[in-house]
Amino acid sequence: MPGQKKLPLIPTSVVGSHGLPGWLYSSLDRVDHGEFGPTDERELYDDAVKLAIMDQERAGIDLITDGEMRRWKFVQSFYSRMTGLTSQEPLRKLGPEGYDSVPRYVATEKIKVPDGLGIVDEFEYAKSQATHNLKATCPGPVTMSIHIRERPSAYKNRLELANEFVGPINAELKALEAAGATHIQIDEPSHSIIGGTVKDYVDLFNRTVEGVKARVGLHICFGNLASRPRFERGYANIFPDIMDVTADELVLEFANREMRDIEVCEQITEAKDVMIGVVDVKSFYTEKPEEVASKIRTVLKNSPAERVGIVPDCGFFTVPRWLTVRKLESLVGGAKIIRKELTG
Ligand SMILES: [Zn+2]
Repeated sequence: MPGQKKLPLIPTSVVGSHGLPGWLYSSLDRVDHGEFGPTDERELYDDAVKLAIMDQERAGIDLITDGEMRRWKFVQSFYSRMTGLTSQEPLRKLGPEGYDSVPRYVATEKIKVPDGLGIVDEFEYAKSQATHNLKATCPGPVTMSIHIRERPSAYKNRLELANEFVGPINAELKALEAAGATHIQIDEPSHSIIGGTVKDYVDLFNRTVEGVKARVGLHICFGNLASRPRFERGYANIFPDIMDVTADELVLEFANREMRDIEVCEQITEAKDVMIGVVDVKSFYTEKPEEVASKIRTVLKNSPAERVGIVPDCGFFTVPRWLTVRKLESLVGGAKIIRKELTG
């Protein structure tokens, strides 16, 4: 049963998405052309989830996800579950994919999520397949607002827009808990996008997870669309205020930034756990287990091992599946080296 095994020292996990199998891309084109019936579509996604779980479990990841196989470009698939939105053509259709080339939405009226976000159904299926501990992932209110234009809008600014998602996400988290989720990770971007202070960001997060008793993680993301970040990639300026989030752990990316700001882990582990990104999802380079181990050692100089775990920097959506598996194996290899050093 997921969530029932005790995690080992230096647990390994993922941030969320798994590398998509090639056949899923070609099948999704056919889905778009109306060639799949509802049963075909369900089988398609179920099979993709089975593979994502198999890859993670075989690699030896302790706390897995369903690979977010049913989501498209992280949040795009959630917008079809909302009312009040009108879609707009991408601003740019030529050239390399970027943040300006995905569909955008305008909130012509107040947004509602009448039937929930669908994450509970994702979790229920994954639970029926997983043998390792399972983590549910959910975009936070800022992430959820990210492809909705600030102007024109039924909201006066992005903070107010993001605030609209607090209720629906909180309801989804509680439903996840009722479905047996013991580990939940909320994914949010840098606070700078909402234009407010870190305190505003913390307040929004805390209201989103209010009353949730499952273990809560917060992944603070610099963006990963087409393997490109979107924000200034530093964590130092959000401390110490970010420590006021009611999360049990912070899930942060370090590998792609050559471990910049790694010293914040010392502050974090005084009160929370930290999952450190030790594998770069924006690079084709496959880290060696010893390189992963060396990054963990840097953190262990100033933090107790009981508070430290490891993850890839972000989701693997933009990484080929074969490379995703290699990177997962290196992650696990690095953790094993350190566990041996710590326990003899
Ligand atoms: Zn991320």
